Amino acid sequence: MAEKKYLAVKEKMEADLLRFKEQLAQIRDMSSEENRREGSPYGKKEEEAAETAEIENRWALEKRVLEQITEYENALKKFEKGNYGICEMCGQQIAPERLEAVPHAKLCISCKAAKAKEAKGFAA
Ligand SMILES: [Zn+2]
Repeated sequence: MAEKKYLAVKEKMEADLLRFKEQLAQIRDMSSEENRREGSPYGKKEEEAAETAEIENRWALEKRVLEQITEYENALKKFEKGNYGICEMCGQQIAPERLEAVPHAKLCISCKAAKAKEAKGFAA
């Protein structure tokens, strides 16, 4: 039932997932190109520093893309299990508007708000 209702969301997620994977492949392509260039005798100090920053940026980006892929894959697995759109904390249906905005959402709005408060050390 829920699966049919969210078919458009699922298709969008699958398309996004493909895009993320392409992005990841591109990032990794760039990294391997860099490795090949390494050991060049013409490297200057400033260039090296700039390159290091670039590589760090790329690592951060790669990590973020990987996280996205994991989130989306987890969300897509829920379609198979038939629990997509169900809040992992309270078991309530997540609002469809929320799922449209954040297709891989794990929590409903109120649980997310409660968790955010908790994270801020509200419970102290
Ligand atoms: Zn909830």
